[in-house]
Amino acid sequence: MSSREAIIKVQNLVKNYGEFKAVKGIEFEVNKGEVFGLLGPNGAGKTTTLEMLVGLRKPDQGTAKIAQYDIINDLNKVKEVIGVQLQSTTLFELLTVEEILHLYASFYPKHVSIPSLIDDMLLTDKRKDRIKGLSGGQKQRLAIALALVHDPFIIFLDEPTTGLDPQARRTLWDIILRLKEKGKTIMLTTHYMDEAHVLCDRIAIMDQGQLIALDTPSELVKNLQSDSAVQFRFQAEASDVNLLDIAGVKQVGNHKDVNVLYTDDLQTTLTSLITLASEKQLQLMDLQTRTATLEDVFIHMTGRSLREG
Ligand code: ATP
Repeated sequence: MSSREAIIKVQNLVKNYGEFKAVKGIEFEVNKGEVFGLLGPNGAGKTTTLEMLVGLRKPDQGTAKIAQYDIINDLNKVKEVIGVQLQSTTLFELLTVEEILHLYASFYPKHVSIPSLIDDMLLTDKRKDRIKGLSGGQKQRLAIALALVHDPFIIFLDEPTTGLDPQARRTLWDIILRLKEKGKTIMLTTHYMDEAHVLCDRIAIMDQGQLIALDTPSELVKNLQSDSAVQFRFQAEASDVNLLDIAGVKQVGNHKDVNVLYTDDLQTTLTSLITLASEKQLQLMDLQTRTATLEDVFIHMTGRSLREG
């Protein structure tokens, strides 16, 4: 468990792009040694938030303190203690893995051992290869290595596994968890709820520029007060059906024609749903049941799926 010392304190951060309010006054704290996730669909404002924290965008209002340094007034100090991996890191494709790491190391007065960093990022076999020949997962691990060259103790990762295959994603998860074991504080953004669940001690769910929930993954799911979800469509319109009347249903989510019933009595709810469907002569389509997840927390709070944005 992480200690309770806040190492990032975000105070009323606001960012507008012209008339568009991308981040609408968010506040949260990240504790020392934890993996903190900002989870939300595309366009929620996660990247904008992260870019403000690392000094790449100026907030229109509010500020944040990172290790007691203010992100606006003490940005140079902030940069000494943070490492940043962005979604669109442009690497010098013709350099080798070793060469680019030595180049980055030369920018700092002190740096970690490059061979150990290469080993830690599972790039030992690739150290003499040019960057342009690396796979997506290897490039992403190199981008993280570059963020770690100056031995920062707070690491920001923007959608670290987007676009990677399942195997490469899991390799990266292991690397992130090992960084946490070494005592680093990690703040990451993601739109994958499984990733947030596996990696994060606490998650802030972001939607349309606001934080709509913040807790541990298990508490977020527990707060749904239902451990199962029943998802289905009716083949025809069922405007006279009130899904809350189905036995055992605690909450209902809908998106387009897909309905989700949340229940902690799966059998009762399923029986009642099937009875209702046959009484009303409605055909059930794509019926599935599952254990409630973070995805359901998001569906419940917004009526939308994380994947649909
Ligand atoms: P993604 O996963 O797609 O990166 P996100 O949650 O990180 O999503 P942001 O990249 O922060 O979201 O974008 C938030 C909103 O602000 C989006 O609607 C985006 O189109 C808009 N936006 C981002 N950058 C700019 C910009 N430079 N000018 C105008 N609008 C922008």
